[in-house]
Formats: sequence, C-alpha cells, structure tokens
Amino acid sequence: MNEQLVQLLNQQMAGNQQTAGTPPMDLSAMMMQMLKEKQNKASASTEQSDTDTSSRLKRMAADLRKFKRIVQSQRAQLEVASEFIHQFADLIGACQECLGQVPECKRCGGTGGPGTHMPDPQLLEWIRPALDRAAETAPAAEQSQH
Ligand SMILES: [Zn+2]
Repeated sequence: MNEQLVQLLNQQMAGNQQTAGTPPMDLSAMMMQMLKEKQNKASASTEQSDTDTSSRLKRMAADLRKFKRIVQSQRAQLEVASEFIHQFADLIGACQECLGQVPECKRCGGTGGPGTHMPDPQLLEWIRPALDRAAETAPAAEQSQH
C-alpha cells in the first residue's frame, strides 16, 4: 500500500499522464485507507501493549510477594541467629554485638572479648558437661605435645 501511494505521488509530482486522468479522490481515498490501517494497527498494538503491561504487572506483583516471603523468612532466620550469638556471648562473657572481634564495635570498641563480663551461670551449667570433657582430655593433649 505504501509503495502504491509513493508511486502515485511520484507520478502526480512528475505530471505523468497516467495519473493526470486519475481523479484526486483516488489519492485521498488511498490516504484515508492508509490512515485507517495505521490506526487499526496502532489500536491493536495498544491493546497488545496493555495486555503485555497487565501481565508484566501481574508477574511483578507475584515476584514482589515471593521476595517479601523470602525477606520475612530470612529476617526470622537472622533473628534466630542473632539470639543464638547473644546467648553465646553471654555464655563466654563477651560483647553481644561482636564477641570482641570488631574494633569498630559501637558497644565495646573491640575490647569485649571472652571473659570481659561475668559469664551467665545458667548457661555455664548448661555447657558444663562439655567443659568437664574438655578438662578430662586436656592433660593428655598437653602431654602428647611435649
Ligand atoms: Zn563489641
């Protein structure tokens, strides 16, 4: 259709006799037809684009829900891990934030290593069997080193 129109325009510009007899209606009808086709394509493309956008938004919403679940799960795991580290810090009498391992720690400045604070007596009782076992095997380990 485009080629026909260009050909028609070229012929009219050149004053071709073949188009000299062509009523001007043909050209305007052709242009109207092209305009209609273009509009149809545009609206079809807009509908397609709306569908694409809608399905893309649905996918993004589903992804967002999935990420929220992952973040909630990781936050829960982080809270459990953080609580565990706090208990361990209390067990060894160290800084709850860094166990004395981080010089930039706002709580202890890296000076809160094991034994800095009084260890939690209940936690010490809980770990007592492990300490006793370590004490039983310690002399043998020392002897084997000498
Ligand atoms: Zn610290």
